[in-house]
Amino acid sequence: MKGKENTWEGQQVVVVGLGRSGLAAAEWLLAHGSEVTMFDESSSPGMRELSQRWRDRGASVITGVPELPATRFSFALLSPGVDPRRPVVLQLKKAGIPMIGELELGSRACLCPIVAVTGTNGKSTTTELIDAIFRAAGKKSVACGNLGRPLCEVAPLSGGLDYAVAEVSSFQLETIETFRPRVAVYLNLTPDHLDRYADMREYAAAKNRIFQNQEAGDLAVIQKGLKLPVLRARTVTFSSNDPSADYTLREGWLCAGEDRVLRQDGTQLRGPHNAENLLAAMAVADAAKISREAVQKALSAYHPLPHRCEVVAVRHGVTWVNDSKATNLDAMVRAVAGMTGPVILIAGGKDKGFDFAESRSAVQGKVRAALLLGEMAGKIEKAWTGLMPCRRVADLGEAVRRAEEMAKAGETVLLSPGCSSYDMFKNFEERGEKYRQCVTALPKEENKQ
Ligand code: ADP
Repeated sequence: MKGKENTWEGQQVVVVGLGRSGLAAAEWLLAHGSEVTMFDESSSPGMRELSQRWRDRGASVITGVPELPATRFSFALLSPGVDPRRPVVLQLKKAGIPMIGELELGSRACLCPIVAVTGTNGKSTTTELIDAIFRAAGKKSVACGNLGRPLCEVAPLSGGLDYAVAEVSSFQLETIETFRPRVAVYLNLTPDHLDRYADMREYAAAKNRIFQNQEAGDLAVIQKGLKLPVLRARTVTFSSNDPSADYTLREGWLCAGEDRVLRQDGTQLRGPHNAENLLAAMAVADAAKISREAVQKALSAYHPLPHRCEVVAVRHGVTWVNDSKATNLDAMVRAVAGMTGPVILIAGGKDKGFDFAESRSAVQGKVRAALLLGEMAGKIEKAWTGLMPCRRVADLGEAVRRAEEMAKAGETVLLSPGCSSYDMFKNFEERGEKYRQCVTALPKEENKQ
């Protein structure tokens, strides 16, 4: 291992949770001489095939049971997807096995500076924006973390990189110890994951850990007004509505102090929430002394990711937007606010503990009709009583058909569920793709009566 001492040789490690992060960690540990046991509760056919493959590579693999048969390990590596209340985690805790997460391991192994991005919403977008700016300036950078490639997968290449830009979730931050990003970006905090955290305080505490190991020479880029503990790092702030922030939105301009850097309508990202993502990326660029030309070039060329307020069709003057990634209430509220003209909203999904009554003022007068699906449909209908016609639908196909019947030219049909998808779909991507398919499958324009 170039540049760092290999402390993993001969260590007995159990990797809990065999999703992409867990597998990347196992790969890294095997390559560095650890004795690896891999564990997953699931017994799906995919898991059985995976077990054989990893046994062939020298790991012990245990799947399809709730607990480990024995707990003689030097430490446990926890994947972010594993709920810390699962029996196996409690078992390891009881046995006193030290536990770290994939992010911690990846950051210990990483040889280049890490820029980390957290917040309830906007992480993926902002991570990509920062990476795009670095690349436009000729730096070697990789976007990673929660976004796709786990940090453990990037670490082996990190000796040749200028930056690793990592999207980090609260789940990943729960299991860090020494993780110290050179730059930490904290975008916003609104209710989410209240099925995993006891309350907002616990959720905020997990997110605040992004700053835990930062020192005076590091940088924290934070949304103006966020309530945070005293930070050791130097801080700069951004805001789309508070003019006292260091990076602001003024008369359509994205500004760094007094400098008007770029007009937001010169980018493809709409709405005040996206202005904040752009401003945060600009702040990181300035800290890294990237030229304004590179910033302007990267931000104006950036295409929004799929499933984030993505226009999938315009038919008979009706715009169809896919915001399947809106898996919490704030993201839905922001999407509704960002639409021009009346909205027919398709919302609902898995119950994560949101109180949709909190969104009444945001949807009132803006959402002309709501089509509600999934586990949350009944609760949303109740929360929005009297505001607009609400109709429960059996599935996304029915929602799209009903929306097609109702929508008039100049209106938008918006899928922005405000809930996660796990009650009816594998993930938000599958939900968004299904929506796109249903919209594309509607009868051709000339056939409409
Ligand atoms: P994350 O990775 O944090 O989930 P994304 O960039 O994938 O963030 O966006 C997720 C959802 O949140 C989308 O519905 C998007 O429209 C919305 N969104 C993006 N940026 C913000 C922001 N700064 N504040 C609130 N909502 C946002």
